[in-house]
Amino acid sequence: MPFMDCHVHTKHSHDSMAEPPLIIAAAMNKGLSGLMFSDHVDIGVEGDAFLQPAYGCYGSFCEEKKRLEDEGSGFMLAIGAEIGESIRNQAVCARLIGDIPFDAVLGSVHKVYLDGKDFCFSNYRFSELPADLVRRVVVQYYCDVLRTAEESDIDILCHLTHINKYEMAPQKEDINDQELGEIIRETLRTIIRRGIALEINMSWFEKGMFAPDANVLRVYRSMGGELVTFGSDAHVPENVGKGFREAAEILKNVGIKHACYFKKRQPVRYVPG
Ligand SMILES: [Zn+2]
Ligand SMILES: [Zn+2]
Repeated sequence: MPFMDCHVHTKHSHDSMAEPPLIIAAAMNKGLSGLMFSDHVDIGVEGDAFLQPAYGCYGSFCEEKKRLEDEGSGFMLAIGAEIGESIRNQAVCARLIGDIPFDAVLGSVHKVYLDGKDFCFSNYRFSELPADLVRRVVVQYYCDVLRTAEESDIDILCHLTHINKYEMAPQKEDINDQELGEIIRETLRTIIRRGIALEINMSWFEKGMFAPDANVLRVYRSMGGELVTFGSDAHVPENVGKGFREAAEILKNVGIKHACYFKKRQPVRYVPG
């Protein structure tokens, strides 16, 4: 099964305890061809301690890569980082990218700055918040994602529509309404122009959610987009490669023949499934 999981967390992320060898063993058991470590780097405003997970992850990557080579395994191990809120400090991102020979840099937005403070999506139950606040958070989220696509030095745009999983307030407006539809289209146009891949993120696969879904992928395809990565966003070994068969079906249905992974920041296409 030629699948490459381009979004996997290890114990170097604040929200995972997964040991790198166990992650790799799980991927091999599922028949994946390879995976990319992509631990969180959440850009802070002061100091640079928030970069440490990426250096720790790189250490594990070097160890595991050597072990796999010594064992004569053909398993492909790649090194990445999921940089959250990269637009806040491009200089420190540039330094990190200069320090580590990444195969790919992933760009994400997990929180927005609103009313003078950080609003981190995972800290809230959107269903308990006023609909107008949720609306503002969602709009700000898409504006920040667009800026990430425009300005950040990234190879993969992560979970474009993942705010949907938090957005459950009463009277919420659909993300495909006119206003957000245009921001999403502009984001897709931008990543196509810059050669940035669109990730299909499977973190909420159990709830039937792909981020983005077939509708957005169809729009992406109609604009000429064809660089797509599969990311389980696994934080535990069991979730590696989750939903990939289903995602491959979606890709085929929207008319995109290849998925891709990255090697030394260049896309490598393959036929998934
Ligand atoms: Zn993420
Ligand atoms: Zn992630």
